[in-house]
Amino acid sequence: MSSTTPEFAAAAAAAEGVKRAKRGVPEGLWQRCPGCQAVIFRKQAEELLSVCPECEHHWYVSATDRIEQVLDSGTFEEWDGELMPTDPLQFADKKAYAERLVAEQKRTGLRDAALTGCGMIRARRVAIGVTDSAFIMGSMGSVVGERLARLIERAADQNLPLIVISGSGGGARMHEGILSLMQMAKVTAALARYHEMGGLFISVLTNPTMGGVAASFASLGDLIFAEPKALIGFAGPRTIKATIRIELPDGFQTSEFLLEHGFVDRIVPRSRLKSEIARAIDYCGK
Ligand SMILES: [Zn+2]
Repeated sequence: MSSTTPEFAAAAAAAEGVKRAKRGVPEGLWQRCPGCQAVIFRKQAEELLSVCPECEHHWYVSATDRIEQVLDSGTFEEWDGELMPTDPLQFADKKAYAERLVAEQKRTGLRDAALTGCGMIRARRVAIGVTDSAFIMGSMGSVVGERLARLIERAADQNLPLIVISGSGGGARMHEGILSLMQMAKVTAALARYHEMGGLFISVLTNPTMGGVAASFASLGDLIFAEPKALIGFAGPRTIKATIRIELPDGFQTSEFLLEHGFVDRIVPRSRLKSEIARAIDYCGK
């Protein structure tokens, strides 16, 4: 779908050379937790996979950190890393899309909002994809859709369990217009084929999983796990409230609310995610 252009290739090369600041728990020896306001020793939170030791607030983790947390050390093999976003509409809002892409690549060290490949989870081989909300809200541009579709197709070909960990505050990437919108259908069609051949798809929802990501692949897991207190939904609460004009219930669009209403199968704290995925793969005989 997407091809490499010299300007983006150069930007990616530049991005790789940039030592990016470690995100997640913000820099500084001590940090205030937004969940409980406690002052937390940063190193301690990092050792707990960026989770607050007092209230279990789950901080953001990048796609690369997530891969490290979930896969057995050194087993990740990236697929389709050469796919680069392009700017087919020559789109500009406050900033030209082409410039925005370069800036996001430099800032996050990613080429686009998804990282895909294969690796081992407690010695079980899996196909894995992660979307990263730090890259244009984790929105599903052509490259995100294409990487996920290829991931699913390879999982089907190689008969692998499929794990997708979503962190996407946006769905469609308006900068790519209709090309972005068609990704939902494309990824969903690939998942339907994967389902027909009897594959196991575990969808892990993290804070935030919204918009077209929630409205397509993230909701289609055979098993849907969610991190505690993640924001999960389609449109934001303000939009819904303005449309239907009723008060929304407390905790609306949180993991806990969605578990209660049957949308989420299990809430899995980050410390147990790796073990729970391995266990589910075994239970399902994959
Ligand atoms: Zn806390």
